[in-house]
Amino acid sequence: MRRIMPEYAYGPGPHQRCFWGASTLPGDPLSPAQGTIRSEFAVIGAGFTGLNAALRLAQAGHDVTVLEAESPGWGASARNGGFCCLGGTALSFKAIAKRHGEQGLKEWGATEIAAIEQVRSFLTRTGTDADIHSDGETILAHSPAAMRDLRAEQAELETVYGVKTDLIEAEEMAAQGMRGRFFGALTLPNGFGLNPRKYADGLARACLAAGVTIHGHSPVLSVRRDGEAFALKTPGADVQADKVIFATNGYSSEDVPDWMRGRYMPLQSNVLVTRPLTPDEIRAGWGSDQMAYTHQTFLNYFRLMPNGQFLFGMRGGLNSSPKVDAALHRRTRERFEAVFPDWAHVETPHCWNGILAFSAKRAPYVGPIPELPGAYVGFAYHGNGVAMGSYAGALLADIARGKDPDRLYPALMRDIPGRFPLGRFRRVLMSPGYAYAALTGK
Ligand SMILES: Cc1cc2nc3c(=O)[nH]c(=O)nc-3n(C[C@H](O)[C@H](O)[C@H](O)COP(=O)(O)OP(=O)(O)OC[C@H]3O[C@@H](n4cnc5c(N)ncnc54)[C@H](O)[C@@H]3O)c2cc1C
Repeated sequence: MRRIMPEYAYGPGPHQRCFWGASTLPGDPLSPAQGTIRSEFAVIGAGFTGLNAALRLAQAGHDVTVLEAESPGWGASARNGGFCCLGGTALSFKAIAKRHGEQGLKEWGATEIAAIEQVRSFLTRTGTDADIHSDGETILAHSPAAMRDLRAEQAELETVYGVKTDLIEAEEMAAQGMRGRFFGALTLPNGFGLNPRKYADGLARACLAAGVTIHGHSPVLSVRRDGEAFALKTPGADVQADKVIFATNGYSSEDVPDWMRGRYMPLQSNVLVTRPLTPDEIRAGWGSDQMAYTHQTFLNYFRLMPNGQFLFGMRGGLNSSPKVDAALHRRTRERFEAVFPDWAHVETPHCWNGILAFSAKRAPYVGPIPELPGAYVGFAYHGNGVAMGSYAGALLADIARGKDPDRLYPALMRDIPGRFPLGRFRRVLMSPGYAYAALTGK
């Protein structure tokens, strides 16, 4: 596997202090693939995309083997902020409408909502307790200009998502427990917060119950066409499969398969979690049940979890090493203290980061790999893959088994993303934009 972040990014270092903990699946989840294996479908990667694809395929009666380099949820899926929310693209509504028309925009908006409902329905149906909370999500104005933008965007948000939103003036916020340095807010009724580890483990359990075989510690080192089938190699096994689904997102490599080369941009996001807050501390800071994020490119996202611990996240980071990690943690902590000065004394024992993916078209791609008939891929959720990755996985299952999807498959997801320039050095392309956003607070 040729991957483009420093090796440290793919090891245990960045998520050593992750709050969500290790998988609770039985059998050192799960045993490596050994010997010769034959399967109708091979799914590479056991995050939300891969597990949802595998589950839907198995429920439709197919024989599925999931091959995961580490363990289920090990990538971004069981180390994210747990916002099951709208999103998935870095494009504005205007840009989507320009590319795919008003109908394309409407379909995309409805897909974002359907993605959230897919996760909710899975949790309800399977009785998976994932500590959910929050009625939709709240977008916070971090400046007077941001509040002006929110006011201007309210009508468009309501039209695209077909929902009623709630504009909250600065002076009304404290009464709703929304204390911090904010200038107003807008609440959308879609989305909820969850414990991503519990959701990932719930999905893996449902897969196992549906007959999926999951192998952990089984990095796929190569995939090649072998007659009518695919031949996959892991350190311990030769796997033959009729069809392959790639679900590796930010942890993708340039050569598994070659088609991925240059098509994903790995970026980091950072999260910290406080110790349990006292009732007085909660009264002094963010006491709302709402999950929230700031209206910025370099956004902060946060939520008070049902157990009284506070989760605070921040996008950013293009490099990886113990030193870089320490700097990222420091920066996240500084932001936390700047937004919640009353919590400057509160310890944050959990601090970690992981990798998500962008694409050059600034939207997800979900569909076939043109140069590799029988192979499919879903990736690039632009930091919002809890819901959208889950949706993409289920969609991929239908596409891969040659069925018309029973859900929306918007044009925005179908365009093939081009390659970023600069090959494996492409991360430098993000630096000016990131630096600008960080400096200006945009
Ligand atoms: C810190 C952080 C916070 C985030 N917060 C949020 C949030 O609050 N809300 C939200 O919606 N999104 C969030 N995201 C993004 C979200 O987590 C991801 O978009 C989503 O989890 C992607 O799921 P996935 O299954 O496609 O990929 P991943 O979960 O990253 O899984 C890919 C898997 O592929 C495996 N793999 C890679 N190559 C191979 C190979 N060759 N062979 C076998 N296995 C391989 C990896 O080990 C990995 O487990 C966050 C991301 C990060 C990093």
